[in-house]
Amino acid sequence: HAVNHKWNFGAGPAMIPRPVLERAQAEFLDYQGTGLSIMELSHRSAPYEQLNNRAQDQLRTLLSIPANYKILFMQGGGHTQFAAVVYNLLAWRHRQNKAEKGEAGQGDWRAIPVDYVVSGSWSAKAVEEAQRLGANVRVVCDAKKALGGFKGIPAESTWVRSTDPTLDSKPAYLYYCDNETVNGVEFPFVPSLQGKDIPLVCDMSSNILSRKVDVSKFGVIYAGAQKNIGPAGVSVVIVREDLLETSESKNGLVPVPLMLDYKTMAKNNSLYNTPPMFGIYISSLVFDWLLNVEAQRIQDGQQAVANDQTVGVEAAEARNKRKAEKLYTALEESRFFHIVVSDKAARSKMNVTFTISATPKGSDAAVDKEADKAMEKAFLSQAEERGLLQLPGHRSVGGIRASIYNAMTEEGVDVLIAFLKEFEQQY
Ligand code: PLP
Repeated sequence: HAVNHKWNFGAGPAMIPRPVLERAQAEFLDYQGTGLSIMELSHRSAPYEQLNNRAQDQLRTLLSIPANYKILFMQGGGHTQFAAVVYNLLAWRHRQNKAEKGEAGQGDWRAIPVDYVVSGSWSAKAVEEAQRLGANVRVVCDAKKALGGFKGIPAESTWVRSTDPTLDSKPAYLYYCDNETVNGVEFPFVPSLQGKDIPLVCDMSSNILSRKVDVSKFGVIYAGAQKNIGPAGVSVVIVREDLLETSESKNGLVPVPLMLDYKTMAKNNSLYNTPPMFGIYISSLVFDWLLNVEAQRIQDGQQAVANDQTVGVEAAEARNKRKAEKLYTALEESRFFHIVVSDKAARSKMNVTFTISATPKGSDAAVDKEADKAMEKAFLSQAEERGLLQLPGHRSVGGIRASIYNAMTEEGVDVLIAFLKEFEQQY
């Protein structure tokens, strides 16, 4: 949204659709005639309960979430979910083992394997957290080792999956991150599973609602809200009902903290304690916006969605594809910009990572790191002057990153591309 012609390319907290902010502003002081702001209402009041249910219904519609999945609104962001999945699914698997093997299945829950694909910084962090909690982590694929950097997704046939059919080696789950926000790597496929009863756990923090997804393939999907949904402070968790397993802490088994316990949250319809109501409210407005093709068209200005019949995630997906394709094409055609992710199929449609080099492509001249740095600095400061904001890459990797979530319009991407070309002209 071009507020004074500013475009927010930040990775998160990210841009919120302009029509959503305007609606929130209009309702800010008086939520639906209650005379109170949504932040002041009791979370036990009827208007809030309706909002809580409506937000779930909207998300269920948007992602076609089957009836045997619960939608939870939790707190603590992505990092908290790194821990929550470990506890909840180890509790579930431990119970399963006991049911199948009786007393023999009651071994130490920490011995139960948990499988991870490491495709970037965030899945690596999830591994660290699982290890910190004492879980028996097996990395089935390390993209950095396989590809010499987080530059793509190694084919599933190269992953090291356990072929040991005994229960002891059956993992509680297989974990991956669908879109690595820092590295700009996005899965072009959903991993297949060796056994049906190994739940797939997926971090979709930075690409939820950006493309269609077959929820029935997953055990757990979670997402921090602050990229494609709403303000930080809310995490959405979509969990298959049969995986809900209350901690058996009373018996000294897996001690799931109550605030991380999916079953406690599900039983209480995400109202176990005071929820982050304002964040859930804005999320609900974003869901409304996505469900409303007219609103999306307003966001896009003159560039109406390609197919007037599409709505919701389908419309967003088509727009995201167009945005990403034109940006990657412009980078590819340029002489100075280099796309970080070499595996074309795994280039993120949400976070486009690139670098700049003062030595033009195809030139025989030696790379001059100082000149590259100076050029990057000039690029970023001129971009800022143009109102193209928050383009520096994540502090851990540097470079440049354009995050183009659902709320980024095609016009915003066009403005960035025009600037890339203009910048190149200067040299
Ligand atoms: N997972 C992904 C894919 C992310 O992009 C992020 C944050 O950027 C996180 C997890 C961590 O989220 P939080 O900052 O909400 O803990």
